[in-house]
Amino acid sequence: MLQVAELNQYYGGSHILRGLSFDVKSGEITCLLGRNGVGKSTLLRCLMGLLPAKSGEIRWQGKAINALKPHQRVQAGIAYVPQGREIFPRLTVEENLLMGLARFAGSEAKKVPEEIYQLFPVLRDMKARRGGDLSGGQQQQLAIGRALACRPQLLILDEPTEGIQPSVIKEIGAVIRQLAQRGDMAILLVEQFYDFAAELADSYLVMSRGEIVQRGRGAAMEQDNVRRLVAI
Ligand code: ATP
Ligand code: MG
Repeated sequence: MLQVAELNQYYGGSHILRGLSFDVKSGEITCLLGRNGVGKSTLLRCLMGLLPAKSGEIRWQGKAINALKPHQRVQAGIAYVPQGREIFPRLTVEENLLMGLARFAGSEAKKVPEEIYQLFPVLRDMKARRGGDLSGGQQQQLAIGRALACRPQLLILDEPTEGIQPSVIKEIGAVIRQLAQRGDMAILLVEQFYDFAAELADSYLVMSRGEIVQRGRGAAMEQDNVRRLVAI
């Protein structure tokens, strides 16, 4: 389980994350919703250690991880799919996936786990193609596949549906659901696409101007009027 307590972050003089506290439980999908610019990606960057948290505590599996570098957090079982995907456009699909195995040593680091291709068959079909030649949706699947290659126990996704066609959004949703149902992975999904979030969320958090302004169970999102809080 991930536990965040009283997290604060600033860009220069502006207070971007304001005392955030929440948990992300194993076997559950926690959806974090919020409009543009409220601080969602900044929060994820703090969780990954790409930005040091100014104050507050981030605990993972019972231990504070504030002092860990990003690669150490990956080694601790945390995987991150950044907004905009950030795949390597000039490497092949297979090479991109192998990058996700960097935390393993020896033969384990040299072969893409079969499971990744089972979850995303399109990546098997395209494994010799350059990442940059894939469609946006395929690149998103590649970015998720690369994150899963390190067998994380916490998967963090930043707006995976952004700019992606509906058929691929459905496939990505099915994979996220399947991963959660295995029961051993915690998933933190940042989204602005309300319907996608509402379909997947076991629990939800709504962020506004750096604060969590509402939270609850996923099944209650409609009656809690969450749509109103994120509609643009
Ligand atoms: P979006 O939904 O558009 O991705 P977000 O919720 O992820 O938005 P952030 O990217 O976390 O929002 O940005 C939060 C605030 O911090 C915004 O006002 C943004 O302009 C500002 N910001 C983001 N990155 C930086 C930076 N490197 N330096 C200064 N300000 C930044
Ligand atoms: Mg963002």
